[in-house]
Formats: sequence, structure tokens, C-alpha cells
Amino acid sequence: MEASEKQVKTMRILLAFPRGFCAGVNMAIETVETALQRFGTPLYVFHEIVHNQHVVQTFSNRGVIFVNDIDEVPPGSVLVFSAHGVSPEVREKARQRQLRTIDATCPLVTKVHREVRRFADQGYTIFLIGHAGHDEVIGTLGEAPHAIRLIQSVAEAETVEVPDPDKVAYTTQTTLSILDAAQIVARLRERFPKLVGPAKDDICYATQNRQEAVLAIAPQCDVFLVVGSQNSSNSRRLAEIAASTGIPAYLVDGPQEIDLAWFAGKETVGLTAGASAPEHLVQECIRLLQEKFGATVEEVFLREEHVHFPLPAELRLVPSH
Ligand code: SF4
Repeated sequence: MEASEKQVKTMRILLAFPRGFCAGVNMAIETVETALQRFGTPLYVFHEIVHNQHVVQTFSNRGVIFVNDIDEVPPGSVLVFSAHGVSPEVREKARQRQLRTIDATCPLVTKVHREVRRFADQGYTIFLIGHAGHDEVIGTLGEAPHAIRLIQSVAEAETVEVPDPDKVAYTTQTTLSILDAAQIVARLRERFPKLVGPAKDDICYATQNRQEAVLAIAPQCDVFLVVGSQNSSNSRRLAEIAASTGIPAYLVDGPQEIDLAWFAGKETVGLTAGASAPEHLVQECIRLLQEKFGATVEEVFLREEHVHFPLPAELRLVPSH
């Protein structure tokens, strides 16, 4: 660590804007805050409310219980569905268990669920472009499991088979790499010329803006830091996109994961945060680089965001005690 500190003379941090919390994450966190105030603990949340270790740990410390199975929730309890959405089967199980549910699904994920239902009702086979096992994909698949084919790569787009090649549609996970998704859609379109898609891109505004901001900065950087958790899809994509420009890129949950040796001989550091990463962790990373390397900070502005989602209806309609 000491040797690397001496090798960098002046360090410059190019800080991406926009970065960090998106409207869906803000709404989901506010939902849990409001539910805690209104109903107290224990409060149950199905899956991580957002994919960020720090956020989940902070709520756990305050008595929130995160579960991966509805059977873990005692009948009659209050249960929040996370920002990533859930399948109809999970909703039904919660209903049967007489849980009081609050739905913090991001409206942009709900939009994808609606598209899937519409295409399935019209008899389409749907290519869902996304990552197997991700909470959002599990929820979306559950809308029409019989009609959906999950496509994770161009290679899978090459080989997928469908009952009627003229009746095919696609939707995507909201947090994919724009470029990777475009390549997969292009290959599907070559194989299935009648492929139809959503009226507007499913990759959400926050994912697109954060990726574009990284692409704008990375060519000027020697190394890139992304603040976010390993299981955060949009954060991982940011690190991959930075790395695709030929520089080392690291995804860290916070300053404690930073290895100062990464900065040996590097002068310009790109810095951003995934849509579920709190800003104070970004500031703590900056403070570390300032302390160790005397770094200066320059914010690089891409565009403003003015998206806001209201609290779930269940919280808007229920009066406070
Ligand atoms: Fe919604 Fe996009 Fe944020 Fe996911 S990343 S919660 S889809 S706004």
C-alpha cells in the first residue's frame, strides 16, 4: 500500500453524473422506511429490497427480516415485495397466507411484466433477454413460463427454437448492457424477421444514463471504480462497460474493499455508482483517495434525471396511526 501511494503524483477523479440511486430504488427504500414507521417490526421483505449489501444490512439492523420464501413469513404479517418484482405465484402464496402485502416493485419492471402478459395473451413466444437467476428475471418469467424463452447471450439467440417463428416477441431485463442487448436483439431479428418488441426500450432510463456516463468518461481514465454490490446487475454492467474500453475496472461495496495498489502509476480515476448504491459510500471512496493520493474531483455531467415514483398504493391509501 505504502509503495503505491508514492508512485502517483497528482490524482484526478472524474466523477460520473448521473450515478447512484434511481427513482425505483428511492421509492423502494422509502417504502420500507414508511412501512417501518407505520407498522413497526418485525417487517418482512421478500428478497433484498434493492441489491445493495449496505442498504440491506442497515435495514436488517433495524429489525427488517429479508426472506426468500413466503413460507418463512408468519401468517398475518406485513410483507414488502422488493423493487425487482415478483411472479403471480408469489403474490398468490402471500394472499393464501393472509399477508398484508406492500408492493415496492419498480414501475419500470411492472411495465415489462405487462408486456409479457400482453404478448403471451396474443399467442406469442417471448424471448426474455436477461440473466438466469436474477430476482427480476425470476419474477418476469413467472408471468408466462410456458411462453417465455430466456436468452442470455448471442450464442443462445443462435440456437433457440420456437413453435411458430412468425409469432415471436422480445422483452428485456431492465438493467442489461445496452450494447449486449442490442447485439442479441439484432441476431434474433436476423433469425426471426417478424420479431416484435416493446414500444419503448425495456432497459430503464437509469441504467442507460449510468452506462452512457461511464462511456463518456472511461476513455480519459487509467482505472475505473464502480460502487455497488456484486449481485447488483446494473452495477456489474457498469464495471464491464468501463473494462471494455481497455482499462482495469473494479466493483466495490465501499472504501474498505479498495486496494490502493490498483492506483499505482494511475493519474485519472473514473468513479460512478450503481443504481442501488448510496451516495455516502461514493463520498467515502473519494475521501480515501483524497487522503492517500491528494486526489482532486471533477464531476462530469451527462444529463439531469427528473424521474420520481410515488409510494406504493397500499401506503398511500392507509392512514398513519
Ligand atoms: Fe427501476 Fe431502473 Fe432503478 Fe431498476 S434500475 S429500480 S428498473 S429505475
